[in-house]
Order: sequence, then structure tokens, then C-alpha cells
Amino acid sequence: MSFSALGLAPPLLNALAEIGYEAPTAIQSASIPPALRGEDVLGAAQTGSGKTMAFSLPVLHALLAKKAGPRQLHGLVLAPTRELAAQVGEAIRKLVSHLPVPLKVSIAFGGVSINPQMMALRGGTDIMVATPGRLLDLVEHNALKLDSVATLVLDEADKLLDMGFGEEIGRILALLPARRQNLFFSATFPAAVQELATRMLRQPVKVET
Ligand code: AMP
Repeated sequence: MSFSALGLAPPLLNALAEIGYEAPTAIQSASIPPALRGEDVLGAAQTGSGKTMAFSLPVLHALLAKKAGPRQLHGLVLAPTRELAAQVGEAIRKLVSHLPVPLKVSIAFGGVSINPQMMALRGGTDIMVATPGRLLDLVEHNALKLDSVATLVLDEADKLLDMGFGEEIGRILALLPARRQNLFFSATFPAAVQELATRMLRQPVKVET
């Protein structure tokens, strides 16, 4: 399997080649085609499987196809910890730095001052990677609106719930457009995770690796 066989846009194929990713991982091969068709994906994936690119490449593919216009938040990634939010955001930024269009990727997490994060959101953003509590803080400060989100990603859904973010996720879901794509990744599927997946996803394509 090659990245080009997955249907990704040529600028993404160039970026992947420049970064040195030669072939998709199993989770990427299985998740990317349905995600590009706009379907919801329920992915069982461990850290190290390549799941970050499994959800990031479809979001970037859709952004590349979008007509030019004012920056509007397109892809929202929720992550359980500041480390994961930073790691995912930096991985997307690295890819974006190899693209011919200047897409903006923002990262936000709690435990640090909100002001620089608010300033960085001036002029809007294309992709937001955040922990749930800080994301809600930013929305409450009018630094960010969620009504244009086309794709919601939950990264490490099991850990999001373990860390007690269930209530925040519920509040975030209520602020998102009803018509959107959901990409849901978790390493494990205890009852609470299954329940959230059932509540969030529409006829998801299930992907296991
Ligand atoms: P992840 O599971 O998303 O945290 O990715 C684990 C590691 O695999 C990261 O260091 C990625 O840079 C790397 N990686 C992701 N996709 C590929 C690929 N298709 N080929 C080679 N390395 C990859």
C-alpha cells in the first residue's frame, strides 16, 4: 500500500515524501480512505501506531480542498494531556510546513496563562489541538468559535474519560455543528468509552490494527 493509493492530495504526498514517511501504517491505510469520504471512524489504536497521521491527513486533505476565504476553525482535536496536545499539534505543524499553503495550527492546554493562547488565536485558526477544559475557557473568553468545525477528533478517548473530561466533552459536543465528521481513537474500549462513541458517531467505520 502507498500513500497515493489512499487518495490523498498531491501536496500531501509531496510533504509525506519530504518528511520521509514511505508507506502508510496499518491504522493509516484503514482509516484514511473512509475519513476522506467524510465517514465517521472508530479506531482502536495504540500510541506508536501512527494514529496522529491517520486523523491529521484527512483533516489537511479537506482543508487543501477548501475555497480560499477567511480562516475558520475546520479541525478540532481533543487530547487528554498537555504533552499529547503539544505532540499532536507539532506533528501537524511539521507536515503543514511542507505544504504550499499557510495553514494555521493552534495548540492550547491548561496549567499555563490563557492570554498568550488568546492572542495567538487572533485572526482565527484552521486546526485547533487542545485539552477540553482549556478549549472551553477559550470559547468562554470569545477567543474561539466552534460553529464552523467540520471534523472533530478525539485522541485517546479512553484517557480523556479517565482524566475526568466526560462533562467537558459533553459541553463541547453541544457547541459543535450537528453535521460534522467524527474521528474517534482509543486504545481501549471500556463501557464509558463505548457509550461516548455510540453517542457521538454516525455509522462509523470500525478500524482495528
Ligand atoms: P503516533 O502513533 O501517531 O504517535 O506515531 C508514532 C510515530 O510513528 C511518530 O514518531 C511518527 O512520526 C511515526 N510515523 C507515523 N506515520 C508514519 C509512517 N507512515 N511511516 C513512518 N513513520 C510514521
